[in-house]
Amino acid sequence: MKVLEKFSLQGKVAFITGGARGIGKAVATGFAQAGANIVIADLDIDEATKTANELAANEGVQAVAFKCDVTDPKSVEALINFIDEKFGALHVAFCNAGICINEPAKDMTYEHWSKVININLTGVFLSAQAAGNYMIKKGIKGSIINTASMSAHIVNVPQPQCAYNASKAGVIMLTKSLAIEWAQYGIRVNSISPGYIGTELVKASPTLIPLINTWNEMAPMHRLGEPEELQTVTLYLACDGSSFTTGSDVVVDGAFTCF
Ligand code: NDP
Repeated sequence: MKVLEKFSLQGKVAFITGGARGIGKAVATGFAQAGANIVIADLDIDEATKTANELAANEGVQAVAFKCDVTDPKSVEALINFIDEKFGALHVAFCNAGICINEPAKDMTYEHWSKVININLTGVFLSAQAAGNYMIKKGIKGSIINTASMSAHIVNVPQPQCAYNASKAGVIMLTKSLAIEWAQYGIRVNSISPGYIGTELVKASPTLIPLINTWNEMAPMHRLGEPEELQTVTLYLACDGSSFTTGSDVVVDGAFTCF
């Protein structure tokens, strides 16, 4: 097989949590352009449906939306049942839904702490566990990719975000743990750690908008990343070309964490 053929996802099925917009949408588009059928799993079903319809119209694959709350085990189970009924297989799981609450540790409420941990860490566990169990049951040697962050590696400043940082560090160790447990089934588990990316998580947050210039001054490349700049790295992790890559975290941050 020639090298570019190894990047094909032709005939494969992928779910993307938090896939309605932002990084999830860009990655879903990349997977679709590589030939995968797509399930956009998101809380925001209207936006998810819009995204799925766009992919189906533009990329010539099947793309559907499913309303899913990654913090609810029943909702995640329903997602897997839906995929099984619709496609009868799942090869790639991008466990990506996440939020950030910027609050100093001394003022952080239990509710805010729990919300961030539940979506960013427990939600990734529930999505990855359901995908992994399905792949094991079906004998599918699939790929699971979790979204961590450069905030798993450094404490980003000046904004306070201890729950976010802790949740993302947890995603990296969860990823390594699952990679070890599921290597015997041929299921690979990796994570990505993006730097600041210009999505609504950043650009629509009144707390974060004023900080964008500060971050850009600190950044070696003096800019935010674009969601599309995560397409090739996630395609690499999703496809069979990365068959010996598991338990890895790939940092894509324009060298932000290098100093
Ligand atoms: P966005 O806020 O643009 O998109 C996140 C999507 O996830 C939204 O559609 C949101 O729906 C959905 N979502 C939120 N909660 C849940 C839930 N419980 N179940 C299912 N879906 C949910 O974020 P980004 O695209 O920027 O971020 C995606 C991931 O990348 C996150 O994990 C984030 O932490 C991580 N990341 C982002 C960086 C950045 O700079 N943007 C940098 C590093 C990592 P709704 O609108 O209804 O809330």
